[in-house]
Amino acid sequence: MANKKINKKDIAKLLNQWGQQFAVFVPSRESGVAAMAKWDGKDTSFLDWYRNTVVPPKSNFLPPMEEMFRFQKDKEGYQIELPPDGGKQLIFGIRPCDARAMAIIDANFKDLYQDPYYLSRRNSAVLVGLGCDNPSESCFCTSMGVSPAESNDVDLMLTDIGDEFLIEEVSDKGKELIAKTTGLKGATKDDEAKAKEAKKTSYDKVTRKLDTEGIADKLQASFDDEDFWEKVAAKCVSCGICTLLCPTCYCFDINDELVRQQGTRFRSWDSCGFPTYTKMPMENPRAEKWRRVRQKVCHKFEFYPMSFDVIACTGCGRCIRLCPVNWDITQVLESVPAKAKVRK
Ligand code: SF4
Ligand code: SF4
Repeated sequence: MANKKINKKDIAKLLNQWGQQFAVFVPSRESGVAAMAKWDGKDTSFLDWYRNTVVPPKSNFLPPMEEMFRFQKDKEGYQIELPPDGGKQLIFGIRPCDARAMAIIDANFKDLYQDPYYLSRRNSAVLVGLGCDNPSESCFCTSMGVSPAESNDVDLMLTDIGDEFLIEEVSDKGKELIAKTTGLKGATKDDEAKAKEAKKTSYDKVTRKLDTEGIADKLQASFDDEDFWEKVAAKCVSCGICTLLCPTCYCFDINDELVRQQGTRFRSWDSCGFPTYTKMPMENPRAEKWRRVRQKVCHKFEFYPMSFDVIACTGCGRCIRLCPVNWDITQVLESVPAKAKVRK
C-alpha cells in the first residue's frame, strides 16, 4: 500500500474528521505544562512548539488518579457501581519513545495480571506517531533501540516533509482508519525520499549515547555495594518526579474514601522514590534513600528485563531534564562498577 500525505494546513480538518469517531488528544500546554489534552477543534499551534510532552501519554491509559468503582452498603450487602466507559481515544503526535514505552508497560498490565481499566483504554485507542525532528540534549532514545522518527509501536506514523506530512500505515488498525479517511493524497517517490532523509537527520540529532551492554549483570554484581549507591543517591531529594513522569513507571496506590455506608475506591500514581512507598506496620525495607534510588535503577535495567526481556527505559530523557538537582541516569549507569564491592 502506497503511503499517503496531507498538507499541514489541513491537519485541523483531519483531526476533526477523526474526532467524529474518537476523543482526539493532541499536545497542549494548558497551565504551562505540556501534556496530551482533548483537541479543541481548531488549535494546531503545537506543530510549531512541540518537542515532547512533560506528562507522558501513559496518563491517557493510566491516569494520575482514577475512580475504580463506587460502593454502597445496603441490606443486601455491598452494591458496586463501575465508572462509565471513557470511549475510544486517538492520540495524535505521540513520539516514538513514548509509543515504545506503552508497548513496554503493556507486559505488566496484560501478562501478569489483566488490568481491565488499562486494557480497555489501550485496546480501543489509536496512536498516531509524529516523528521528532528536534530532540532534546537529554534524549538518548537511539541507545535504547528507538528511532526518533520511526516506530512499530504506533498505528500511523507521520513524518514532516516540508509543507506536508507523509503518513505511513503501521498497523492493521492504522490501515482501517486510513481506508475510512477522506482528503488524503498519495505520496510520490519524491515525498518518500524526503521522508527518508528527514528520518536520518532526526536520528543523527540524538547525540547523547548510553552503552547498555552487560548492564543487568553489572547492576546485579553491584547490588550490595552500599558505598556506590550512597554516592549515586547523595543529591537526590526524593521528589519522585523522575518516576511519576517516566513513561515506563506504572506504580500506583489504591485508597478508599468512605462516608458512612458509601464510598469510592480510586487509584493514583505512586513512586518507589517516596520514603513511605514500602512503609509497613513492622518495618520499611527501603527506609534509606540509597535503597530507593537503587530500586528505581535496578527495576528498569535489571529486574524488568529479567521478567519481560526488555529494558524498561526508552531514553526519553524526562528524568534528566525534569530532575530539580540534575540527577542523570546515563551518568549513573556509566559509573556502575563492573565488579562487586561489598562494605565490610
Ligand atoms: S527527579 Fe531527581 S531529585 Fe527527584 S527523585 Fe528523581 S533523582 Fe531524585
Ligand atoms: S528512565 Fe528516564 S529516560 Fe528512561 S524512560 Fe524513564 S524518564 Fe525516560
